[in-house]
Amino acid sequence: MKEFDFTYNAKNSPSKEELTAAAARAMGCAPKRVGGLKILKRSLDARKEIVYRYHLVAWMDNEAPHQEYQLPPYQDVTNSEPVIVIGCGPAGMFASLRLIMSGLKPIILERGKDVHARKFDMAKIVREAFVDEDSNFCFGEGGAGTFSDGKLYTRSNKRGDIREILHQLVKFGADESILVDAHPHLGSDKLPRIVENIRNQIVECGGEYHFSSRVTDLQKNGDEWNVTCSNGDSYKAKNVILATGHSAKDIYELFDRNGWELQAKGFAIGVRAEHPQALINKIQYHDKYQSYLPAAEYSLVTQVEGRGVFSFCMCPGGILVPSSTDNQSVVLNGMSNSARNSQWANAGIVCSVEPGDIPEYQKFGALSLLRFQQDVERSMKITDTFKAPAQRMMDFCRRIESKNLPKSSYAAGTVNAPLHEMLPEFIYSRLRVAFPEFNRKMKGYYTNDALILACESRTSSPVRIPRDPETLQHLSLTGLYPCGEGAGYSGGIVSSAIDGVIVAQKIAELR
Ligand SMILES: Cc1cc2nc3c(=O)[nH]c(=O)nc-3n(C[C@H](O)[C@H](O)[C@H](O)COP(=O)(O)OP(=O)(O)OC[C@H]3O[C@@H](n4cnc5c(N)ncnc54)[C@H](O)[C@@H]3O)c2cc1C
Repeated sequence: MKEFDFTYNAKNSPSKEELTAAAARAMGCAPKRVGGLKILKRSLDARKEIVYRYHLVAWMDNEAPHQEYQLPPYQDVTNSEPVIVIGCGPAGMFASLRLIMSGLKPIILERGKDVHARKFDMAKIVREAFVDEDSNFCFGEGGAGTFSDGKLYTRSNKRGDIREILHQLVKFGADESILVDAHPHLGSDKLPRIVENIRNQIVECGGEYHFSSRVTDLQKNGDEWNVTCSNGDSYKAKNVILATGHSAKDIYELFDRNGWELQAKGFAIGVRAEHPQALINKIQYHDKYQSYLPAAEYSLVTQVEGRGVFSFCMCPGGILVPSSTDNQSVVLNGMSNSARNSQWANAGIVCSVEPGDIPEYQKFGALSLLRFQQDVERSMKITDTFKAPAQRMMDFCRRIESKNLPKSSYAAGTVNAPLHEMLPEFIYSRLRVAFPEFNRKMKGYYTNDALILACESRTSSPVRIPRDPETLQHLSLTGLYPCGEGAGYSGGIVSSAIDGVIVAQKIAELR
């Protein structure tokens, strides 16, 4: 068995014969002695020649083949011990799948609607300027990642087995390429079907889904939790996974009211920058872009005044979407289809914020950063609709009002506004330094053809629901497992899914 690297032009895929010949060279044998081979990783390298770099494993005809990863089997949990899972985002869904593998029955309570009904409510944000506070871009089956770019890369590989997540996604309909691509992504056209297939699997095994079930109260009676929903239904179980995501303000408020421990957590806030994708392709492919190449991505980071300013959730060939969860705020995020073929590239450009940056909010205790986030989001709602205040990039940095605005992918519309005055000064002053700085890394990035829109504020949770590092239960609430992004233990689709798996495993272990 031998692992080896192989480079090939980006226009075509290598043939089986070419890969076999490369494997034979790597193993020092004749091609006919190659028993088999498998691509383990594939990454695009555009630094000089534009090539794909493959990392493969090959074995001789007298060797056992490379062992494929095997997903643990699902069990019939119809009559098993129930575990209440609040929230059906990546953390809740993958926790539920893991519970089923461990012989426990998930009862999923989700405030939003099923993934298909949800689309109609999202359309209303643009058409009727109305946000359903339980069914929108953040809330509903599949959680915040369902209508997104579906980027699947994560730095949390060390925390859990990313293969379990990727192999399940493939089982439920994702393309197998996500198993090998260095920067895998799914796209908003593929995600709803995957989310639906996950539901079918959970229900087939005996798990339960309850939509339009916003959890409003949690009470402990003896050994058991009693969970009450907005529709009057209630559910009982010894263990509860709380995976409500970073936008479930009401859950943080419930904890605060009950005096249950919460912590303020640093997060990041800023704007979305939108460029023509053709410009980003030109920069990243050094003028050598060809239509067979994927839309170029970018990732930028710098330090200003001792705080990080960085790109977040970059969507090549994507569009901007209104991701507010109430009718008083304007919040933006990005999504794209699997082909990433819109004419725009957008990314959040955000600054880290720590409690020390906002002394005037200290009076809100653990909710200080949440209240700050809410105030910024509200200050961006300057029309009766969800139009985003916007400004050209160089005008923004030079404190000049834009004479006009370029076209944008943001269907809710833009309104020409002095963002340099509207954003909190300490955020603005870091952003205005960062944009020209980014131009040093990506020549042409700092341009008035780019649009700045506000605000991007849902980068990660501004609150942590602290848990015991050993038992993963809330510090003082036995049987309650804060999980995923809303609890402050993950950020992004894959790391939230991994956190769901870790928590479900722990419940099975402590059973
Ligand atoms: C438009 C958009 C694009 C994104 N793009 C990407 C991307 O490309 N890649 C990436 O890695 N990440 C992306 N993200 C972030 C990613 O979606 C989140 O990190 C991830 O979904 C967090 O998973 P989670 O399960 O912890 O929480 P969530 O996905 O937020 O799920 C929480 C669930 O809990 C439900 N809920 C909340 N309160 C209650 C309650 N009281 N009762 C019952 N249910 C409740 C919500 O309705 C929701 O379904 C994007 C987010 C958005 C909004």
